[in-house]
Amino acid sequence: MADDIVLVKPVMPAADQVARAVRTVFDSGVITNDGPRVRAFEQQLSARLGSDDLAVCASGTTAIQLACGALRLTGEVIVPAAAFPAVWQAVLRAGAKPVGVDIEPRYLTLDPRAVEAAITPATCAILAVHTFGCPADIDELTRIAARADVPLVFDAATCWGIGYRGRPLLSYGDVATLSLHAMKLTHSVEGGAVVGNGLRVADWIRRLRNFGIGGEGALAQGTNARMSELHAAIGEVVLAESDAEITRRVQVRRWYEDGLHTVDWLTVGAFRPEAGPNVAAMPIMLNADAPVDATTLCQELHQRRIHARAYFTGYYRPSSLRLAGAIPVAHDIANRLVCLPFWGRLTEQHIARVIDALTEIGRHHAPAVHLAGHAAAPVSPGAVGLGGPRGRP
Ligand SMILES: *Cc1c(COP(=O)(O)O)cnc(C)c1O
Repeated sequence: MADDIVLVKPVMPAADQVARAVRTVFDSGVITNDGPRVRAFEQQLSARLGSDDLAVCASGTTAIQLACGALRLTGEVIVPAAAFPAVWQAVLRAGAKPVGVDIEPRYLTLDPRAVEAAITPATCAILAVHTFGCPADIDELTRIAARADVPLVFDAATCWGIGYRGRPLLSYGDVATLSLHAMKLTHSVEGGAVVGNGLRVADWIRRLRNFGIGGEGALAQGTNARMSELHAAIGEVVLAESDAEITRRVQVRRWYEDGLHTVDWLTVGAFRPEAGPNVAAMPIMLNADAPVDATTLCQELHQRRIHARAYFTGYYRPSSLRLAGAIPVAHDIANRLVCLPFWGRLTEQHIARVIDALTEIGRHHAPAVHLAGHAAAPVSPGAVGLGGPRGRP
């Protein structure tokens, strides 16, 4: 493992700082159950976002689940057909019905036209993902949600440190959710948060994360999704390093973009104008004439001790997401989307190794197979991709 370039290396604060934070928690005698460290962490996250309505919870997944619970969602929730499986699972756990619609080919975020076509009287919310940190089409989705009179929720799991039109991306939408998992830019080892923007939800989230206990009794939407005092205390320490991590990632991205110019069969994932910096991930898209598909590329990189992930295919594919219509873009992208290693302590030498590996893989596989035809071709049972018929229950 020593020479492996992993996909993400968590931000690791200095051991003495962690030890001090942990000791403070144990000395206080309060180790969980909505204690002072959780409240302090919430205040720090709020202050940095300019928000006064934020509650933390156990994970980015439970953040989505609790947000759905707080909004009392029980009908159809429109979700992207190509997204991290947590999105679909969290909606189901909340007692609502996820309905998958296609994504846009350029930014890989919910296609507003597909959303519009999928709205039914049973639609109770739109849940869009800022895919790999790239903002969804906020203007169009806001308009569609307003016309349908349903809340607009953003899964902004990876979006700490990303701005849009001069504000944190997390401040958009009626509600936005964040992951504080170790693989995200800032983290509490495991954790998540819900931000109320257009709608106030933080007090509901605090109740729902603790079995929904309160007022008239325990609510059905409740669960145990608390954050412990230890996690919150470590979250504060990591948060103090997040600005430095952002700076490092901006530099890493520059090295990548310079180097990837020389690989002509792939394209760096597009980022919406007015947004940045893109410090969430390093997605690339294989061009139609690429010599390998996403799964093969990940395997070949792995043989060279470089970890990359094809997030929209294989292991990550939702097994039973109901679809509102055809999803040609999601099928196509499944074979073409790969995230390269991306974290702040990557060096120029690491990036050079990744570029060299890509160059070698390209040379090794000539002549090219043509992926362009894959979207239109019938999906065979063993094929990679989302699988049309399998996408239905
Ligand atoms: C990481 C992630 C999640 C899940 O977050 P956890 O904290 O791991 O539960 C959900 N959605 C997206 C887009 C993610 O990247």
